[in-house]
Amino acid sequence: MISQAYEKKDICLIGGGHSHIIAVKQLGIHPPPPNIRISLVCSDQFTLYSGMLPGLISGHYLPEDCYIDLQKLCNQAKITFIQSEVEQIDPHSKQIYCNLHSHLNYDLLSLNIGSQPMLHDIKGATRYGCPIKPLKQFLQSWLKWLQVAQSTNEPKHIVVIGGGAGSIEILLAIHYKLSHTTLQHVNFMLICAHPNILSSYNQCTQRYFNDYFKKLGITVIKGKRVNAISQHQLIVDDNITLNYDFAVWATHADAQSWVAKSGLKCDNNGFILVDQYLRSVSHTDVFAVGDCANFIPMSIPKSGVYAVRQGPVLANNLVAASCNYPLLAFKPQKHFLSLLTTGDRHAVASWGPLYAHGKWAWLWKNHIDRRFIAQFNQ
Ligand SMILES: Cc1cc2nc3c(=O)[nH]c(=O)nc-3n(C[C@H](O)[C@H](O)[C@H](O)COP(=O)(O)OP(=O)(O)OC[C@H]3O[C@@H](n4cnc5c(N)ncnc54)[C@H](O)[C@@H]3O)c2cc1C
Repeated sequence: MISQAYEKKDICLIGGGHSHIIAVKQLGIHPPPPNIRISLVCSDQFTLYSGMLPGLISGHYLPEDCYIDLQKLCNQAKITFIQSEVEQIDPHSKQIYCNLHSHLNYDLLSLNIGSQPMLHDIKGATRYGCPIKPLKQFLQSWLKWLQVAQSTNEPKHIVVIGGGAGSIEILLAIHYKLSHTTLQHVNFMLICAHPNILSSYNQCTQRYFNDYFKKLGITVIKGKRVNAISQHQLIVDDNITLNYDFAVWATHADAQSWVAKSGLKCDNNGFILVDQYLRSVSHTDVFAVGDCANFIPMSIPKSGVYAVRQGPVLANNLVAASCNYPLLAFKPQKHFLSLLTTGDRHAVASWGPLYAHGKWAWLWKNHIDRRFIAQFNQ
């Protein structure tokens, strides 16, 4: 009889998010026992790094600076890469259903499929406006719009609906791009449902961005929700109608609906509930990391920083769970350093109650981001 430790095990990773790329890298450096076969299924072969998207839009980076080639990364780690979108899983029969591939079987599963802007209650939102995620589709829509917009001289209205870090960085990147490379007359607006922008950041950071928006002439509407959108108009609370030419959805995070439908225990927003080992509370053979998970021991922000830190713990736990070894607990830090770019080569550093800004902060972020990408693209 084959001992349990040497039984063949199939581990399937769904999504090429931050935690999975770190885990793949680690599994390449420290290969698992030969009885463990690993595959990564992702909708895209080239994954766009969110931390560099604002800089790509501003024009500080070239596209090739910001992408990670998952096929190449997997080849190096002797992991099978499958380019396909997962549409459903069945945790009872342990099967995965994809759009471009026949179904897959797994012994252990990990999900790192990110999140998307919440659009449920906004009439017309699935048809009009551009969701900031998936990032690649957003970038394509922006570049297409930019090309068409540049063919006329009429004033344009750009509206970003959000108020978190990603929405602010994208708005300022678009502002920088248009004001430095075109003669286009553009009105910019940020609409934030919360009474203040960057609500999870310290007051100095909030004040800095409020003042900066004022200086750039960007209108900020706070405490109002967008309720509906049509081809050229937004309807905000109190039935105020606003015209737009390009609208970006950067509302708070929502989950992919098939995940909760599969029977995995999720919170009210469809994020998978996981324990300290990053393991589903309802299915011990399923792990979930990054934005698509809700870490029960402590509330953690949906941020790439936490997703990255979960990577090594996940890699360890997938192998440990396959071999019946004890699992490691993920211990998130309380505060994390945020470096928020302002469109130009300048950034704001925010850590808990502390704040500072300058060109040095941008250079620091640039160094961190380039080093992060380089480890996968060598
Ligand atoms: C503009 C912007 C800037 C940001 N900047 C920062 C920053 O500087 N620092 C920071 O910490 N956070 C930042 N964030 C937040 C950060 O992007 C997210 O928290 C982070 O991406 C979460 O990563 P993840 O690992 O959960 O998934 P993601 O990085 O979103 O990756 C999900 C992956 O899963 C794949 N996928 C999705 N669905 C499926 C499916 N059904 N089947 C197969 N594959 C699938 C996708 O193609 C993708 O490869 C930013 C966000 C935005 C929008």
